[in-house]
Amino acid sequence: MFQSLKLGKVLGIDLYVHGTFWLLPLFIIFSGMSAGDGLATTLTDIAFVFAIFTCVGLHELGHAMAARAYGIGTRDITLYPLGGVASLERMPEKPSREIAIALAGPAVNVVIATALFLGFVGAAYLTSWSPTDEASGIETFLARVMVANIVLTVFNLLPCFPMDGGRVLRALLSTQLGRLRATEIAVSVGTVVAVAFIGYGLYYSHFGLIAVAVMVWLLGQAELAAVRFQAGAREVRERAAEWFEGPTRDSGGPVSSGFTGLAWDDVRRVWVQYRDGYVVRVMDSEK
Ligand SMILES: [Zn+2]
Repeated sequence: MFQSLKLGKVLGIDLYVHGTFWLLPLFIIFSGMSAGDGLATTLTDIAFVFAIFTCVGLHELGHAMAARAYGIGTRDITLYPLGGVASLERMPEKPSREIAIALAGPAVNVVIATALFLGFVGAAYLTSWSPTDEASGIETFLARVMVANIVLTVFNLLPCFPMDGGRVLRALLSTQLGRLRATEIAVSVGTVVAVAFIGYGLYYSHFGLIAVAVMVWLLGQAELAAVRFQAGAREVRERAAEWFEGPTRDSGGPVSSGFTGLAWDDVRRVWVQYRDGYVVRVMDSEK
């Protein structure tokens, strides 16, 4: 039921719309009906959502193109009802590159908002329109899209890891503190921001905001767990190398010093688990 629909390829990247995305136009139709809105208003609201998600898709494409400049591919871009995700094949560990990739997304929204603003200024100049004149439907629509792009820029730049601003914060911290500690602090700051949003959302009954805050918090926890795992694996590898020089090809017998723990066998590219110097398990990490 909630399968992703492939829209096509943009600049060589598969673009998907997640099944849950369609809940958004459905929600607009139902809330429009319950508020007694006319068909024209509801259709305009749906068109607005599609326009915003086009901008979200372009934002994700901005991340993907910046990553491509550093030789990092993007598996796909998927649009969810709460936002878009560009699945990069990996994250650069170099802080300056992570910052560039993180800022490339909001930069796209700045370009869209600026282009619309300049369009308005140009059109007003050509038609000698004054701010006291009434705006037409299309002008109001484009003005909403412009404001939404400004909101998207500000929102994404909040220091709420793993949103773009949080990534910038993590990258800046990691120049001084190391990646794990930097991620822990960025996630903590993100949690404070998310809790503030949840409080605000509860107070003003803004449930979309609560959903976004909860999702951001969960994604932050997931990414922290991944970074902790990477750091743990690295530490095990380093310790194993200190304690023990990798097992040889005929490592069936006991290893000197009765080693217990994991060791990386560089020849066969496998993790080997030892207990008192005996191999108890071989784990193929290449799968
Ligand atoms: Zn982004």
